[in-house]
Amino acid sequence: MHEPVPYFDLAAQIRPLRKEIDAAIAKTLDNCSFCLGPDVAQFEKDFAAFCGAEHAVAFNSGTSALHVAMLLLNIGPGDEVITTPFTFVATSWGISYVGAKPVYVDIDEQTFNLDPKLIERAITPRTKAILPVHLYGHPFDINPILAISRKYKLPLVEDAAQAHAAKYHGKIVGTFGAMSCFSFYPGKNLGAAGEGGALVTNDKTFAARARSLREHGSTVRYYHDEVGFNYRMEGLQGAVLGVKLKHLSKWTEARRRNAHRLHQLLAGTPLQLPLEAEHAGSAWHLYVVRHPRRDELKRHLEANGIGCALHYPVPLHLQKCYATLGYKPGDFPVAEKAARECLSLPIYPELTDEQLQRIAEVIKDFFGK
Ligand SMILES: *Cc1c(COP(=O)(O)O)cnc(C)c1O
Repeated sequence: MHEPVPYFDLAAQIRPLRKEIDAAIAKTLDNCSFCLGPDVAQFEKDFAAFCGAEHAVAFNSGTSALHVAMLLLNIGPGDEVITTPFTFVATSWGISYVGAKPVYVDIDEQTFNLDPKLIERAITPRTKAILPVHLYGHPFDINPILAISRKYKLPLVEDAAQAHAAKYHGKIVGTFGAMSCFSFYPGKNLGAAGEGGALVTNDKTFAARARSLREHGSTVRYYHDEVGFNYRMEGLQGAVLGVKLKHLSKWTEARRRNAHRLHQLLAGTPLQLPLEAEHAGSAWHLYVVRHPRRDELKRHLEANGIGCALHYPVPLHLQKCYATLGYKPGDFPVAEKAARECLSLPIYPELTDEQLQRIAEVIKDFFGK
């Protein structure tokens, strides 16, 4: 009787763009520029302009961009980077790949982002950078963190993988720190037809070295200045991203509209709804509600055909891969509670009002019982 509402519907996003995407792909196939090439170079220009940045360097994933960000800051074994335990694990991967240690700091209850008040006490002589995340597309409170970054001369790296087009005090995120890292994984607000990422910066030395590191540590072919990586973006991804970037602002507006509509529809339920801080223009990557009976509610939604998801069920300090860091349950109570109570509802741009109403109806039905 009721149509199911999927958690995310990539097909609905691609369908209206098929002509445009097909033409862009055909062009790349014709000119055979499969690794980097003109489509990627054009996308780099367009994405940098979109972010209001001098440089965007395209990568084969956001994780690769985060790895290179750590290398650009010469972070290595014995160093520490202050970051959040409540994020997708890749935020910490770059730190680990260079042999440094993620040092976690608890999050703010309301925005789920790194709590600026807790950062200073985590700084040690080994601290080399601060890496917060604009989680769920909601910008972290940048100004107080920038103040700490300047006071202690610790570069700020923004993990903007979920925050394309998010705004802080009206300005698009990505250029507040030394550099920022974006992901174009298909489920992100701007997604490739496969993997992709970018490092965005206003610093031309960083940009030049990032270009070298992603391409075997070379600027002139077969001359290798340092040990590098094959982290190049594929030409076809550059072509697809170039098409999709033109729709990003419209999609972000639609996400915002859906968020406000859900807000309206869910007001009065016992759920804690996601709020935008005063400084924030969220990119609404995710719409995350909270409730102590989260697991039951999730089962109820799924039983009634409503897609939902957990972001994230286990904070990083309690992941098996980081057991050697020596953290224990209770170290970051706000993050741990969020991991137990968070539930992501559908928020993608193509949702119809009927679908949004159906989500609310099923939720109200749960609390009515
Ligand atoms: C997706 C994501 C990444 C990693 O990006 P990939 O392109 O999947 O490698 C890093 N950080 C956060 C917060 C993410 O959501």
